[in-house]
Amino acid sequence: MTDDATLACTACSRRSAVPRVLCWPCVDRARRYLAELPVLHDALAVALVPGSGEQQRVSGSREAPLPCVLDVLSLRGPGGMADILTEWLEAVHEARELGRPRWRGRDRVREVCQRLDDHMSWIALDFAAGAADLLAELKTLSTAARSLAFPERARVPLGVCPLDAEGGQPCGGSLQGSLTSGTVRCSTCRTVWPPTHLLLLGRMLGDIPVVAKAA
Ligand SMILES: [Zn+2]
Ligand SMILES: [Zn+2]
Repeated sequence: MTDDATLACTACSRRSAVPRVLCWPCVDRARRYLAELPVLHDALAVALVPGSGEQQRVSGSREAPLPCVLDVLSLRGPGGMADILTEWLEAVHEARELGRPRWRGRDRVREVCQRLDDHMSWIALDFAAGAADLLAELKTLSTAARSLAFPERARVPLGVCPLDAEGGQPCGGSLQGSLTSGTVRCSTCRTVWPPTHLLLLGRMLGDIPVVAKAA
């Protein structure tokens, strides 16, 4: 007995031919996050090494690290990535009546991610109580870790540069927004839009008509 609700992915609402909690594309996404989180967790350790550029002290306050270091610590420290992932594995164990997880190695994040991946078939079919939240949490952790571990790569494409290049032709470069600085930069004319100018940029992007290619 199935109805429409049982055929829709609980994370993205995509319909499947058979009842599933998560559709295949969402399972693939979850597996990608589980594969990359241990790598990102290692990369965050590098961000904490003295001299890596993020470890300067605030002058006059010997103990206070910069906020970015605090963010890294909050992901690597107590209550961070390892503990959050562990709670998810414990939730899966509880739902499957497997008892509390026993730990084998010292690399908790890698071990938990591997074991969550081992449970993924069951999660996708039967973990209705948590699969969508788990996927959302994996995405949040991945996004946060990625932007802290690789701040210069934390960029999002925002469309086509609205400015005129030399000769009055549209620049046409691609705009990239930085998640860390809040600025937007054109890859072609190198114009940098500071956060204070983003409203203006948004208006310019919204005003651009769709132009048919000149004959
Ligand atoms: Zn889905
Ligand atoms: Zn441009």
